Amino acid sequence: MKYCLTCDWHTSETDEPSSSARSRRAIEHYVETGHTIDSSDGVVPPQLPDLPDEVFVRDLLPSPSSD
Ligand SMILES: [Zn+2]
Repeated sequence: MKYCLTCDWHTSETDEPSSSARSRRAIEHYVETGHTIDSSDGVVPPQLPDLPDEVFVRDLLPSPSSD
């Protein structure tokens, strides 16, 4: 969920299923009030997911048994 550090505003999956809509609502609240929004859902991490490269390589290479 996303929540305001200044007032009791918040939004979560229960009242807004779309994560993009929650982000938009959080931005709107920030723009309207200047309040600081914090997020605890981790839906949009600041960096790429920490996945091993071999996962992507294996997905890109053809399967040896497909010949
Ligand atoms: Zn607020």
